[in-house]
Amino acid sequence: MKKIKMTKPIVEMDGDEMTRILWKMIKDELILPYVSLKTKYFDLGLKNRDKTNDQVTIDAAFATKKYKVAVKCATITPNNDRMGEYGLKSLWKSPNGTIRSILDGTVFRTPIIVKGIDPVVTSWKKPITIARHAYGDLYKDSEIRVSGPGTVTMTFAPRESNECKTLKIFEFDDCGVVLGQYNTDESIRKFAKSCFEYALDMKMDLWFSAKDTISKIYDHKFKDIFNEEYEINYKKAFEENRLTYFYTLIDDAVSRVMKSEGGFIWALKNYDGDVMSDMVSSGFGSLAMMTSVLVSPDGCYEYEAAHGTVQRHYYKHLKGEKTSTNPVATIFAWSNALRKRGEMDENQELIRFSNCLEEATLSTIEEGEMTGDLCRITSIKKPKLLNSEEFILAIKKRLENRIEEL
Ligand code: NAP
Ligand code: MG
Repeated sequence: MKKIKMTKPIVEMDGDEMTRILWKMIKDELILPYVSLKTKYFDLGLKNRDKTNDQVTIDAAFATKKYKVAVKCATITPNNDRMGEYGLKSLWKSPNGTIRSILDGTVFRTPIIVKGIDPVVTSWKKPITIARHAYGDLYKDSEIRVSGPGTVTMTFAPRESNECKTLKIFEFDDCGVVLGQYNTDESIRKFAKSCFEYALDMKMDLWFSAKDTISKIYDHKFKDIFNEEYEINYKKAFEENRLTYFYTLIDDAVSRVMKSEGGFIWALKNYDGDVMSDMVSSGFGSLAMMTSVLVSPDGCYEYEAAHGTVQRHYYKHLKGEKTSTNPVATIFAWSNALRKRGEMDENQELIRFSNCLEEATLSTIEEGEMTGDLCRITSIKKPKLLNSEEFILAIKKRLENRIEEL
């Protein structure tokens, strides 16, 4: 068979631990035999981040800006334990945080749906994609422990004048707590744009929810900016594609989501998105079946699995044990990145290959061959438990059949 050619490269970001092991297996068995793969490779493994003083992460992010499509392996965000384990020079920041701030993007998380892994919510038939605004709010707040009676106020001091604006927050008669949080119009607008762009790209409806009835200035601003962007820049395209955008109160959104059949994007503020994405991923079955993509407002796409480096499995692997770590979300990160490259370059063969790779992966599970995490939750009778390598080879067998039919 002739290998599929690529005109432009994708950015490849290697990572850590068990996912780094899976990364190589996926490339060697499922991609390199079929595609003349062109990548700009960056080793984001913790050792190399330390060696380059994390410059490699910054370079990878700028390469993503240049080439528009990237695929990333899970990486360790170091804490004090990791500092000792790897003898690090510094507690490097989360690579995902660094890349996100350079691309200024929004993260969309989508469950992979497959027959035999049934959502807990029985009405859910199609994926629900969560878009979380990952800037400001509770995650950049300032908090004070009030130690006794006294007054708490909030002041805005304009840079250009002396006309301060002060608001009394609360008159304390005894101990308590206070927090202040902020967001910027610019960040909210970029979030809104990323959501509208991605909805059009995926041909999915967009919901946005907040609590504007209670938070009449803060949350209301989010609602207004989304509405403005929609009316001015996206309404026409949405109508042409028969898509809908609507805003609703978060309480209402939650109850609608539980009764829906899925198949839409749900945009949420930072804290709501943090919580709801865990609810939705548990509801769909497994974190190992969740993909994630960072989309920038200017149309760059960085795909990855939503899970981490699966450290516990890696230590078993180091002891020489075979592990049954699920590679599906990482396979889908690759197939999504290759498909996006194919769409941008009008490379039909590459698009077809990406589809085949996904179909082969899903049919392997549907035919009862799967990793341990899925065996525990599947409705398929007597599933066959495979280790990671066996599972990837089972996918490869089906992939070869499909490619022959192409
Ligand atoms: P994790 O790697 O997501 O794993 C947590 C647990 O979830 C695992 O121990 C495993 O459960 C299960 N699991 C996750 N992915 C799985 C898969 N593909 N197949 C089978 N089981 C899977 O989270 P963590 O252990 O909290 O974090 C490990 C490292 O990953 C940390 O250093 C963290 O910084 C990093 N991390 C990176 C990213 C990223 O790069 N995007 C995201 C999150 C975390 P059992 O052990 O019960 O089998
Ligand atoms: Mg969370």
